[in-house]
Amino acid sequence: IPMSTSEVSHRICVCVRKRPLNKQECNKKEIDVVSVPGKGALLVHEPKQKVDLTKYLDNQVFQFDYSFDETANNDLVYKFTAKPLVKSIFEGGMATCFAYGQTGSGKTHTMGGDFSGKQQNSAKGIYAFASQDVFAYLNHWKYTNQDLSVYVSFFEIYNGKVYELLNKKAKLRVLEDERQQVQVVGLEEVYVTSADEVIKLIQTGSACRTSGQTSANANSSRSHAILQIVLRRNDRHSTLHGKFSLVDLAGNERGTDVSSNDRSTLVETAEINRSLLALKECIRSLGKNSDHIPFRMSTLTKVLRDSFIGEKSRTCMIAMVSPSMASCEYTMNTLRYADRVKEL
Ligand code: ADP
Ligand code: MG
Repeated sequence: IPMSTSEVSHRICVCVRKRPLNKQECNKKEIDVVSVPGKGALLVHEPKQKVDLTKYLDNQVFQFDYSFDETANNDLVYKFTAKPLVKSIFEGGMATCFAYGQTGSGKTHTMGGDFSGKQQNSAKGIYAFASQDVFAYLNHWKYTNQDLSVYVSFFEIYNGKVYELLNKKAKLRVLEDERQQVQVVGLEEVYVTSADEVIKLIQTGSACRTSGQTSANANSSRSHAILQIVLRRNDRHSTLHGKFSLVDLAGNERGTDVSSNDRSTLVETAEINRSLLALKECIRSLGKNSDHIPFRMSTLTKVLRDSFIGEKSRTCMIAMVSPSMASCEYTMNTLRYADRVKEL
């Protein structure tokens, strides 16, 4: 198990996951330029050229809380990333887990799992594992503590606009009140009593995400998807107790579309870059216990504002990388970003 030796108990956990080379890449004889030697380290053998044009591989070393190689399955990744955060929402915290990386690097595979194949070889993702653990914890919790109920929201952010995924992609407004509390007006919060119910909602919502004939785009790689598992107390006001936000971020391949003449693509790219930059700044201010959190920089950070405040907030970022030499530049971008997010 490729892990760091240090106990991960701090507020920001940053991990990296390398996916295996896929069939097409193998057919094209792509070279694997990423290696995971252990203890949280990850190496990229970056192809470079000397002045005399001889080619060589330059080793770039990165260090994270955990580095997962291509043999790690979703179960293992979950265990070391999102799982430790489940407890914190019962203790009244706001937990967040992000999947970050280039399109095709494995974000949706990690978060949502793979239900594309036959049912028996479908792989569960972090959404499903976290839901199961929330209910396991709830049963254990209710004997000794206050009564809690579980609710689920699922929505996406595309071009700075919020779209419902549990109710036919209705477009929703984001409002901030005078106490800086941010609200997504009319967002569905479905009461759930089992992990199976959550998984069904996720499947419906994910189908809604990719179909996109209506308002948002057909290409899910350009939007952020946010699943929220919400704990509320069974009191008169259903007071918010804790919240787990699981975020499948938009692809970070910035700059690839700059040659495009399509204005809407340029606007899309600019918006994604802005939200990912805002996210980095907000997570960094969480690590520094700073008073000023620049959450207003983007819709993404606005709706996740609660995640960046409070003593009990905890964040985990899983940076996904493709192993191929062809993706090397994107991989380096992803790793540099993840490196900046690490707690100082
Ligand atoms: P993203 O959401 O980042 O665009 P996907 O999760 O859709 O990427 O992954 C792209 C493809 O690679 C999918 O077909 C997915 O099943 C496959 N894949 C991603 N990660 C893994 C992995 N760790 N093991 C096996 N297949 C993977
Ligand atoms: Mg995806």
